[in-house]
Parts: sequence; structure tokens; C-alpha cells
Amino acid sequence: MAPLLEDNATLRILRAADQGRYGVLAVVGYNLEQVLGFVKAAERQKSPLIIQLFPWAMTSSNGILVHAAAQAARQASVPVAVHLDHCQDEEMVKEACLLPFDSIMVDMSHHSKEENLAKTKELVAYCHAHGKATEAEPGRIEGGEDGVSDTLDLAGLMTSAEEAQQFVDAGVDLLAPAFGNVHGEYGPRGIVLDFERLEQVNKITGANNVLIALHGVTGYSDALLQQLIAAGVRKINVNKDILAGYYAHLEQKVNKIPFTQVVDEAVEKVAEALARQMDAVGSSGKA
Ligand SMILES: [Zn+2]
Repeated sequence: MAPLLEDNATLRILRAADQGRYGVLAVVGYNLEQVLGFVKAAERQKSPLIIQLFPWAMTSSNGILVHAAAQAARQASVPVAVHLDHCQDEEMVKEACLLPFDSIMVDMSHHSKEENLAKTKELVAYCHAHGKATEAEPGRIEGGEDGVSDTLDLAGLMTSAEEAQQFVDAGVDLLAPAFGNVHGEYGPRGIVLDFERLEQVNKITGANNVLIALHGVTGYSDALLQQLIAAGVRKINVNKDILAGYYAHLEQKVNKIPFTQVVDEAVEKVAEALARQMDAVGSSGKA
């Protein structure tokens, strides 16, 4: 491990989860209220947590939301890290290295396989030199979500054992394999995961102190999440399922009750939804 990463918050949280064989939620937030709800849930559940932001959060607020999330993480009474999800632009990865992220997903999966690997390798070294842990995606996870460019025009590519090994060798700290998982909604085929492929990836990552990140869990049952955690998944990206109650609350209450009350209640909706998921992945009580 690069010396600057010895005390990295994302890695510390996920290595503890690996030892304890539980999952940690990495939840995407789009504004300050959501971030406050996330931290509230973590403190209430005594659970570790990773807050995720998209590159959109860097540009839309000129970095302010990143600083706010990092401050919320530092002030929390439990371990909380801040992660940049799906950074698909090389210059933005470098800009993100100057912001208070603990880890960065260097997502070059829209390039050819060879380019994905070469660009990832170069950017991982750059991130490590700035004390940032890295996540990368060999193969390509299909679908789109709010904040990730839609890749429906490109067929998803499953991650092979060979690719997993190449990315591990490139120095990546977290690997996001494609094994049937899809961003956003699953189509009529439903959720069909290749557990054998996940097992092959887990053998390689496990032998190299690399951790597995899971993308695309919309609609997953608690039992399926637990099966995936037993198969080695440690970082579990969540987005839509957690924020549904928050958005519904705004729709129902804005202009009907004082806005301060709307905000407080909406933060509570986020905290409740996330707390339930923390119980499901086994991180409650682990902080
Ligand atoms: Zn993703």
C-alpha cells in the first residue's frame, strides 16, 4: 500500500468490514439534506458509512458540497468516508484529488478494454500520490442512473478473471466487477447474477487485499444482498431505493407546511431508509 494510504478512511472502513464479513453502504447524495440524513442514520445505527457524490456535485456547487460532506464525515461520531463515484473524465479525476475525497472511482469503462486498463493504471498512481484510494471497473456495468452517463447504447461486458487480475496489478484498491448487475432498473429479464464469476473475482481480490464494490442493487432483496456479502462483496452502492421517501415527502409537503419542517422531516426520511439498509447489510452496531 502506498504510504499515504495507510490511514485512508474508505480503506479502513472496508478492511474492518472484510475482517467482520459484513457490508458497508456507499450511498449517493445530491444535496446537503441527504448528506445530513446519511450521517444521522450512521450515528443512530452505530454503523460505518461511505457517502458518495457524483462529479456533478463538484461542478454544480464549485466543490462546496464535497467540503460539506467531508465536514459532516469528520464531525460524525462513527467512521464515515467520502467517495467520488463514476468519475469518467481524466481531468476531473485530477481535480478531485485536490478536494477532500477519501477515495475516487476512476471509471474509464467507456473506453476500449486496453485503454480502460492503461488510463486506470496512470490515474490510480496519480490518486495514490494524493492520498486517495481508488475504485475501478473492469468490463462494463450496463445501464444508467442519475449522475452516470447512460451506456445503454453499449452492451455490458462481464468482468473476466484475467481483467480482474490486470486491474489488481494496476494498483486499484477497490474493484467493481460486472457479473450481471445493472445500473438503475432491471429489465423484464429480472436480476440474473453470475455468482461463479463473482467467486473467481473474489479469489483474485482476496489474495491481493483488494475489496469488491457492488453497483446496481436497485430492487435487491435483503436475502440477495446477504448472499452477495457472503460471496465477498464489501462496498454496496445504493441510490434510488434510499432517496424515494425523501422525494415523496417533498412532493407532498412543500408549500403545505413551513419549509424548515419539510427539511427536518425529509432528513428523517433519508435516515430511516438508510438505517433499514444498514441492518440488512449487517453494518449496524459495527462502528
Ligand atoms: Zn455505479
